[in-house]
Amino acid sequence: MPTINPLDQSIAQQRRGARIILKRLTTLYPDIATALTYRDPWQLLVATVLSAQTTDENVNRVTPILFEKWPLPEDLAEANPEDVEQVVYSTGYYRQKTKSLLALAADVVERFGGEVPRDFDDMVTLRGVGRKTASVVLAEAWGEPAIAVDTHVKRLSNRLGLTEKSDPVKIEQDLKDLYLKKTWAGVSMRFIQFGRDVCDARKPRCWECQLRDRCPYEPKTRRPGNTR
Ligand code: SF4
Repeated sequence: MPTINPLDQSIAQQRRGARIILKRLTTLYPDIATALTYRDPWQLLVATVLSAQTTDENVNRVTPILFEKWPLPEDLAEANPEDVEQVVYSTGYYRQKTKSLLALAADVVERFGGEVPRDFDDMVTLRGVGRKTASVVLAEAWGEPAIAVDTHVKRLSNRLGLTEKSDPVKIEQDLKDLYLKKTWAGVSMRFIQFGRDVCDARKPRCWECQLRDRCPYEPKTRRPGNTR
């Protein structure tokens, strides 16, 4: 029998359903955190910029070298671009990423005295920092209420009927309407991990999914080999 689409329910029912989903994901991933290694908000900001179009493992191989050579925003702002390109080369798009990192470092130094601003509106004024990056840093480094919408969060939110939007800004707003503010910081990483582990883009593992009874997505996939 198909699951009722949460979007057809009242807002109170939608919120209740959304919170059951988050509760299950919290049971599944009680202590989830970003896989990017970092010591402070600046390092997480840099690692997040580098993580575009590559894996966290790739970034974690590069950042210790980067921070050894240029520990502070002041150091990176003054760095020779070619030297930085060599270090970040293996993360892909190394020219663009180097440009972004140097501009970002200069911005943090010139406009915020070398400290990453702990404020969403300030953070998105930094060159190369969008809503997603700002939300990751705020939620992960400081536990501030923020929801980052990446491809996994978007896919899961759509499949689970938490939103029917495709624009990440609108999805972020829908999720913020459904969840209590104090839980926002714990939403993204759990959705992302579940998207990686179970609700894969091309091959969701619906037959063993802990959210199956809450999910209106059809057709649900079957265990390989099960044709019934
Ligand atoms: S039932 Fe399938 S589509 Fe729905 S959340 Fe689970 S894995 Fe994803």
